[in-house]
Amino acid sequence: MENWAVVVAGPPSNQLLLLNPSRNSAVIKLLPTPPPLLTHRTFLSPLPLKLQKQTPFASCCSCNGNGNALRVASPSSNVTTELADIDWDNLGFGFMSTDYMYIMKCSQGENFSKGELQRFGNIELSPSAGILNYGQGLFEGLKAYRKHDGNILLFRPEENALRLRMGAERMCMPSPTVEQFLEAVKVTVVANERWIPPPGKGSLYIRPLLMGSGAVLGVAPAPEYTFLIYVSPVGNYFKEGLAPINLIVETEMHRATRGGTGGVKTIGNYAAVLKAQSAAKAKGYSDVLYLDSVHKRYLEEVSSCNVFLVKGNVISTPAIKGTILPGITRKSIIDVALSQGFQVEERSVTVDELLDADEVFCTGTAVVVSPVGSITFLGKRVTYGIDGIGRVSQQLYSALTSLQMGLTEDKMDWIVELK
Ligand SMILES: *Cc1c(COP(=O)(O)O)cnc(C)c1O
Repeated sequence: MENWAVVVAGPPSNQLLLLNPSRNSAVIKLLPTPPPLLTHRTFLSPLPLKLQKQTPFASCCSCNGNGNALRVASPSSNVTTELADIDWDNLGFGFMSTDYMYIMKCSQGENFSKGELQRFGNIELSPSAGILNYGQGLFEGLKAYRKHDGNILLFRPEENALRLRMGAERMCMPSPTVEQFLEAVKVTVVANERWIPPPGKGSLYIRPLLMGSGAVLGVAPAPEYTFLIYVSPVGNYFKEGLAPINLIVETEMHRATRGGTGGVKTIGNYAAVLKAQSAAKAKGYSDVLYLDSVHKRYLEEVSSCNVFLVKGNVISTPAIKGTILPGITRKSIIDVALSQGFQVEERSVTVDELLDADEVFCTGTAVVVSPVGSITFLGKRVTYGIDGIGRVSQQLYSALTSLQMGLTEDKMDWIVELK
């Protein structure tokens, strides 16, 4: 007889996530129908359960492979979350390891079918893995917030699933279905629930990876693929509210080119921007603003964020044409701005327009909205506002973060609740 913990179970899901702390393992069991008793109950610090013979879960005899079934000692017991023992007030935006990671593999030409949670740790790869040799890989990024009522909120996770699928097509990789992606994100977040910061202290950053893990030598898609999710608690990007960043326009190096892979979230995107970014930082700037590689005249984006200009009641952002990453924050800010009565234009934006903009801001999952205090182009510095934090940037930041944290009504239907 072994001790297992039911971490999450349906309905509506028919998945049962079982953790076995003594064996450092976890399994996800698919039941023929959603289990009636375990109504999406989450037990944070693994709750020991005894496996017993012939209990109400007779229909899931495959649960442990030996004819045993599960019973919850007290379905009404409400176990509250025990938070991880870390300094929640001083969370940065760095990596911190947590309890579990999710792994799902499949061969080339096949579809992903079954994944599992594993204890977080190093992974083993052939030195000849496609990802290591040829960069065949994609990443995603999203956040989970803990709400005051104990619920856990995800922000538009299906958008990340869809973007991963688009990227996988470009990179010749199989990808999880939207449903598989969502379920994997959910079980990973719930299994690591004690690492989600208390409300207001930050969020759990979720990092899905899709990579060619099989060995290749000739130039070809890898024979095997791994989908992996790990999470890390992160603080609010800007501790004391919004802090303006200072950008420099890069005129030599480019982030993306037409027909390239800059429009998908490939593993290599950030390696390509490190050089210009390091040089900018050495000169005291926060980051680099890229121009298009053909005319060297139109704005594209910052290293890892999309860019917006505000002029009067009009908010403009470069249109997505393959060289700009289609940010989910970008897309959401456009809708929030429209709902607040702004006019929003997705079009070609010239670098000259920076000169007479009222405000400039950047968007991305990590920063949400980041106001730009100054931009330097060919030695000329333009500053925005008095303290660099424009009224519109502030307003959009507040609107979107309140929505993400569950503080305002979700009229857009963007929030996925995990409990
Ligand atoms: C991820 C990313 C963004 C922002 O996308 P979000 O979905 O808003 O986080 C912007 N630009 C680049 C290059 C990115 O990789």
